Amino acid sequence: MSEAVSYSVRDGIAVISMNNPPVNGLGSKLRPGIMESLKKADADPAVKAAVIWGSPKVFSGGADIREFNTPKSHEPPGLAQINEAQDDMKKPLVAAIGGFAMGGGLELALACHYRVAAPRAQLALPEVKLGLLPGSGGTQRLPRIIPVAKAVEMMTTGNPIPAEEGKKLGLIDEIATGDLLESAVAYAKKLVAEGKGPRRIRDLTAKVEGDPKAFFAQVRDQVAKASRGYPAPLEIVACAEAAVTKPFDEGRKFERERFAVLIETPEGKALRHMFFAERQTTKIPDVPEDTPTREIKKAAVIGAGTMGGGITMSLVSSGIPTTIIEMKQEALDRGLGTIKKNYAATVSKGRLKQEAMDKNMSLITPSLDLNAAKDADIIIEAVFERMDVKQDTFRKLDAIAKPGAILASNTSTLDVDQIAAVTKRPQDVIGTHFFSPANVMRLLEVVRGKQTAKDVLATTMKLGKAIRKVPVVSGVCDGFIGNRMIEKYGQQSLFLIDEGCSPQQVDGAAQKWGMAMGPLAMGDMAGLDIGWEIRKRRYVERPNFKYSKVADKIAERGRFGQKTGKGWYLYEPGSRKPIPDPEVEQIIADYRKETGIKTRQISDDEIVERLIYALVNEAAYILEEGIALRASDIDMVYLTGYGFPPYRGGPMFYADTVGLPKVLASIEKFRQGYMGEVWKPAPLLVKLAKEGKKFNG
Ligand code: NAD
Repeated sequence: MSEAVSYSVRDGIAVISMNNPPVNGLGSKLRPGIMESLKKADADPAVKAAVIWGSPKVFSGGADIREFNTPKSHEPPGLAQINEAQDDMKKPLVAAIGGFAMGGGLELALACHYRVAAPRAQLALPEVKLGLLPGSGGTQRLPRIIPVAKAVEMMTTGNPIPAEEGKKLGLIDEIATGDLLESAVAYAKKLVAEGKGPRRIRDLTAKVEGDPKAFFAQVRDQVAKASRGYPAPLEIVACAEAAVTKPFDEGRKFERERFAVLIETPEGKALRHMFFAERQTTKIPDVPEDTPTREIKKAAVIGAGTMGGGITMSLVSSGIPTTIIEMKQEALDRGLGTIKKNYAATVSKGRLKQEAMDKNMSLITPSLDLNAAKDADIIIEAVFERMDVKQDTFRKLDAIAKPGAILASNTSTLDVDQIAAVTKRPQDVIGTHFFSPANVMRLLEVVRGKQTAKDVLATTMKLGKAIRKVPVVSGVCDGFIGNRMIEKYGQQSLFLIDEGCSPQQVDGAAQKWGMAMGPLAMGDMAGLDIGWEIRKRRYVERPNFKYSKVADKIAERGRFGQKTGKGWYLYEPGSRKPIPDPEVEQIIADYRKETGIKTRQISDDEIVERLIYALVNEAAYILEEGIALRASDIDMVYLTGYGFPPYRGGPMFYADTVGLPKVLASIEKFRQGYMGEVWKPAPLLVKLAKEGKKFNG
């Protein structure tokens, strides 16, 4: 028997123990041992019933992700074969669920005849999150043991339910009191004593109240609305319907067919790409995983504005005591007030306990004295975006901070090396580029300066994970990964307006394609003055940089977006809903007339291609220059920081899906069009297209 599974018999009860850390992934180490143990227990006349379990903390997390896309994942026996062997057992089989049973782990438990769970156990079928459905009988067994509507909800959201709820629904037969294994063995003995045999879920009937057709029509409607863009939830509904209307074996066959379809959908592939991409970002080729890290017990944040406040919330929400430092009492009070208000809003929505809010607030130490940062292990600066202000702050921090403290800047555009250069410890300086609102957005660009020490980088990446962000390494360049790309996207959105589109047409096309927000509405949210300032700087720094001046015309009128109640759109007081504005139409029309631009009808497809390929082409330069470590890191930046639709997998993954030769052909076409000179195809894109390769290798 494999080492990962042990087998013993006590008082006529076989105990099958799974031991494949960290989560008892049902990989090639575990499956043969489980199969063998089931057979052994069934064949041994001295065994009257069997219990399968992992530990009090883990039952099983499902498929072993380390074996995904490897031949090992297909080595027999498969989970489905194991489930059949469970069904075939002539003796009662009890699952003892500790910690969690997820995905294939819950399917294993569902193919047992009875289930005992630890009180804190969590149960879920989260396959939908990877664009799949529970493919080993989960869609057929769950609706047979709990109410169909609840089964559909669990499978289409993928969210876990606690053991107590499982008990109420009938999924769990008993909640363990005391030791889990003892309870399960006692439960098995009771079954034997009462003469109870196997109770196979496959033999139960899944029922809905009333006409199944009407019931599922309504469910389908509801799920379709909630899952726009994703095929898996509707396939799950179809499988649940099969569980109600077909015999088990036919339902299983249908489930297998639908699973095979989902495995091939671009949406599912995109979600799985995202899942693995997230696990890649902390892998840095020249910084091995065992690089020693510095201890972060205390933090300080300089500046209590929009970003400083959000960063402080992220830190204290993860239990890191943080000193927040401002220049003036008024600014400090305002900053703390905003933090309090944000936490209170989350409490009132029921998403945070009052005690947790109180604890978080108690971890914040406000101060007007920079010296208060002297015992911090990391100091994150979030002051005004001006090089002189940043350098002045870093000079002072250099004099104050304790040796070994990490000095981080939240700059969005400035050169981290120039900031580091004013200190005597450039090796301790790094960029931590949070996204607004910093307490919510998951992306954290970690900017590696020329002299940033490896342990400083490793520590910052680890801290990023600890505060539940997705840290992505970026080299130093203007805008880093995300904003450097977004500049090209914004540039195209303006050229599209020049050429005849309305703001709402550009935004509508982008949103219909899946972006959380269109580029112009996004500008209104960020503040049009910010882009205007950057363009003014560009006109001087890079006089050849092409921009439509139409955005300047909007900003010149004091239309800075949501904060002034008007930008590309109008906003009613207190509302963020963009309303088309005839005045904007007039400004655009005047601009076109003034510059003599010939307008034309532009299709939604062209709008999307120009916006997205502008991102892709710049990203190819970024990859080639080594600013990003890998294509999937760029995808993560866009998925977690810029509202890119997860089912498209990120700009690089999307370009791979379209096919790079096709992307290149479109770029060549745009090159012949309006402001075509901005479309210089990146050499890496040209090379990969020619070689028939992909960005995500
Ligand atoms: P903000 O104007 O809201 O806040 C800056 C705060 O810093 C102000 O409260 C100011 O009083 C304080 N401050 C200035 N100099 C100080 C000093 N010497 N000591 C202590 N406090 C000082 O600005 P923000 O939007 O929070 O931006 C801060 C930084 O974050 C900038 O570098 C910006 O580029 C960057 N950033 C901003 C965003 C965003 O969306 N707002 C996103 C990412 C990064």
